[in-house]
Amino acid sequence: MPQRGNRIVNCETAKRRKRVAFYTFGCRLNQAETAIIEKGFAGGDFEVVDYRQGPDLLVVNTCTVTENGDADTRRLVNRIARDNPDVRIALVGCQAQVQKEKLLDLPNIDWVVGNARKMEMARIVRESPWGTPPQLITPTIKKEPFTIPFPGVDARHTRANLKIQDGCDFFCSFCEIPYARGRARSRDFADILDEAQHLTRAGHHELVLTGINIGTYREEERDLVAVIRALAEVPDLWRIRISSIEPTTIAHAVLEDMAQSEKLCRHLHIPLQAGSEAILSAMQRKYSVGEFRDFLMLAHRTIPGVCLGTDVIVGFPGEDEAAFEESYALLLDLPFAYFHVFSYSDRDHAKASSYEAALKVAPEVIKERSRRLRELSNRKRRVYQETFLGTEQLVLFEQHKKGVWSGLTDTYIRVEVRSEQALKNQLLPVRLERLAGQNVEGRLVD
Ligand code: SF4
Repeated sequence: MPQRGNRIVNCETAKRRKRVAFYTFGCRLNQAETAIIEKGFAGGDFEVVDYRQGPDLLVVNTCTVTENGDADTRRLVNRIARDNPDVRIALVGCQAQVQKEKLLDLPNIDWVVGNARKMEMARIVRESPWGTPPQLITPTIKKEPFTIPFPGVDARHTRANLKIQDGCDFFCSFCEIPYARGRARSRDFADILDEAQHLTRAGHHELVLTGINIGTYREEERDLVAVIRALAEVPDLWRIRISSIEPTTIAHAVLEDMAQSEKLCRHLHIPLQAGSEAILSAMQRKYSVGEFRDFLMLAHRTIPGVCLGTDVIVGFPGEDEAAFEESYALLLDLPFAYFHVFSYSDRDHAKASSYEAALKVAPEVIKERSRRLRELSNRKRRVYQETFLGTEQLVLFEQHKKGVWSGLTDTYIRVEVRSEQALKNQLLPVRLERLAGQNVEGRLVD
């Protein structure tokens, strides 16, 4: 067997069809991109397998939004290399972009490829003979419009992610996304529509618009509203869902369309991050508590039944008891249906990581505050779901487990129905009858 560095490369692997697997950490945008990277490997020389089935090559699309994301990558790589010593691993994406050569020290790493080049992963692998030295490919990300070469069809999922935008110019003080993903840029308008048509023809009837800061989408005169309205004309596209969107970027027309359109889901996930004026300002967010409150109430009034979700960061430097209680009170008061709770952690490139040590919040305090917020979120979810009991809603069915089908309403309520019929990928009316854990049970309407 030939040697490469301190690793042995198996000659048999070099001859036969290679097995490639994918693993995704982090956000919906990363999932969308992994589906596209995977398409690049389609063809005679690679076979796609599950990452637990001993692949020859594992592509890990990484996340660096918190310390936990970084640790998860290290844990995965160490475990896979231990169980499968011949595997070659490519770390791509955000962590690769910001941590660069540091990642080459992990076992079995042959490629570290940043966000600028990760979509070319299949070509990069095909052009590096099996057994070449590890490569670091992390050029600066250019601020320019982009296209995507392959549609991200993913037969395992009913909903498909549709990437329309990347990067961010906001530079919130806790976030290193502008360094990991570059400055804000938008996908070519026609390219978005092409992929949408391809995805619907492949059977994806709900598309989730994804990006880092999708409300900043611009292509000449076209904005997010233009994207939504053009997608609404795509045949066989039943639902368009907007993923997370910054509060200051939501045009009034989005709210009006959401109130009137049959296709645009009544669901807005708008990150608040903190409910204390002082903390919002230290975070360098672009709104005050009052502005956020006004906007959220406007959305609530304009769109009947809208599902409003948010993100909140616990333990930002300087978050004392009073600041946390302000956040808690605001989250209690506003008509949110749920929130996602994140623990603050220092990120190398983010400004808040240089805030003085005295402002840092102890881990056990963060843990207890997070527990209280998650408990509040569960209560609010139940209150929101209760308002739909006894009503009929359209559900797009996704999965079947132990005799129970589940799917989503346009308002992001997961509904379970007992049925022997094959319901996958069907949009059917369901009467919602009772709460069941985090979900709602219902029955098909005849
Ligand atoms: S808006 Fe702020 S938190 Fe969101 S990606 Fe941009 S810098 Fe990060």
